[in-house]
Amino acid sequence: MSLLTKQPGSTPIGSPGSVPHILVVDDEQHMCDVCGRTLRRAGYAVTTTSDPKVAVDLLHGDQAFDLLLTDIKMPTMSGLDLAHVAKERDPAIAIIIMTGFASMENLHQSVQRGVADFLSKPFELDQLRLAVDQALHKRSLLQDNLRLRAIEQLLASSEALGTTLDLSELTDLLLEVTLRQIGCRAAFVLLVEAVGGLGRPTASGPNHRLLAPGRALANQAYHQRQLLSGKQETFAQVGEGDLPFALAVPLRAQGEINGVLLLCDDQPSAFLPGAQEEIALLANYAGSAIRNALLYQQLGDAYQRLQELDRLKSEFIAIASHELRTPLSIILGYTMMLRDQHTGDQHDYVQRVMESAKRIKDIVDDMVSLRHLETGEERMTVASCSAMELLTEAAERFQQVAADHRHEVRIEVLDEDIEFESDREKIALILGNLLSNAIRFTADGGRIALRAALHGAAPSPDGGERVIVRPLSMADSAAWVSFEVQDSGIGIPEREQSRIFERFYQVADSLTRDHGGTGLGLAVVRELTITLGGMLWVVSQEGQGSTFAVALPRRLE
Ligand code: ADP
Repeated sequence: MSLLTKQPGSTPIGSPGSVPHILVVDDEQHMCDVCGRTLRRAGYAVTTTSDPKVAVDLLHGDQAFDLLLTDIKMPTMSGLDLAHVAKERDPAIAIIIMTGFASMENLHQSVQRGVADFLSKPFELDQLRLAVDQALHKRSLLQDNLRLRAIEQLLASSEALGTTLDLSELTDLLLEVTLRQIGCRAAFVLLVEAVGGLGRPTASGPNHRLLAPGRALANQAYHQRQLLSGKQETFAQVGEGDLPFALAVPLRAQGEINGVLLLCDDQPSAFLPGAQEEIALLANYAGSAIRNALLYQQLGDAYQRLQELDRLKSEFIAIASHELRTPLSIILGYTMMLRDQHTGDQHDYVQRVMESAKRIKDIVDDMVSLRHLETGEERMTVASCSAMELLTEAAERFQQVAADHRHEVRIEVLDEDIEFESDREKIALILGNLLSNAIRFTADGGRIALRAALHGAAPSPDGGERVIVRPLSMADSAAWVSFEVQDSGIGIPEREQSRIFERFYQVADSLTRDHGGTGLGLAVVRELTITLGGMLWVVSQEGQGSTFAVALPRRLE
């Protein structure tokens, strides 16, 4: 395989700084020599030939020419036909015809073939230099014009690439734009796989087939991280037609290569330096679009994995909580019996075993309630409740643990007592969770207050509280009862205050500070509050303590 290595746009024809290349064709060797010498002296690169057939081969070869200076009348081929060949390969090539006499017919054909100038033989060498300078200047303008138009079109087409995040739609679109914009016969996109380099090619058409040399060229461009062209080998086929010219362009975004675009043609002209510039631009667009699509796909995959993980966690909780319940009841039953049968130290030891078993029971209860609440299996048992009674019960349940930590737990009920209608067990669970947290997240010797209050209308927490649950419709006139659990503990950083109500979420520090817990308690509180049609909010400052509040409608509909 013969390979030419080119950087995009490194040798655009007529670009500032590059030496224009001129092809001189005249069947008189003497004319070739004179013109060649004159133009070389003027600073141009010149190739001369007295054989028009050789000129045709040269025009089809690797060397791109900026100007064709040709005699009009030659024995084997006319200069006008040669001009046609040259224009086919590069529509912007400058052409100057040398002629002994210019007939009207010749003039007409020359205009059609885009001939820039005529030089009537014999001519002065100054005339030749002037004509070449002017023709090259015109060519450069024409080239800029063509390039601008092509880039304009390319930008319009490339915009479409940014409209989809579906990877297969995107590769199809890229192939479509490539064929339309670059005008090659076939194109292929090979995306980089997570392992093992380039994956299977996507082709621009059903009968467009990538062959082994084409794949090898794409691989080489990927590994060398640069644009590569190949020629005179069958890189691909369209139906039965061989495509012996190819250009492999890495698709990159942010320094990473995410694929290779391979363009194949039966002519080398599709990949002239001007076109390469366009291709490089297209590859940049495509690279970014593919990166976005890949990121989107990865995000989707990660989300699915998370959902699956979530399902597995829920399943695990369901099984674990179910399996733990029975042995736990047995432990609790027997320890209670043992405690009552013993006195002194032994009574205290058994009491401790019982407290720990109760703590496990609380965790299992949280797991079960959360599952029931989430699946909507949880039933409401509405009964008449007393705020005072609920607070006292909660305080009594945690009396021992609070005492172990020398916390002072106070019940503050401003009104005599508040009687209301709700699900007593659920409120007990809410208060138990909040009080347990208050005890655990407060340094020994802290102050904990349990409060209840009656409100004539729905309380509207708006003094910096983070509201976690608020019912969609609230009857303004209905009375509400609120519960507060306030501690003088470690507090919760503002950015964490919403997140702690998610399942399993724990403020990072609380893990290292060894407060224990499962990260389920507040999720249960949140779900229970929703079930009870209530509101839930928190006020907290790091290092200053926290207040969790739950407000419930006084009467349930
Ligand atoms: P856990 O079993 O970890 O207590 P929760 O859902 O009850 O789970 O609480 C989640 C996290 O919220 C806790 O790990 C802790 O970081 C934070 N948190 C809850 N209550 C308090 C509180 N009263 N003071 C400080 N941080 C708290």
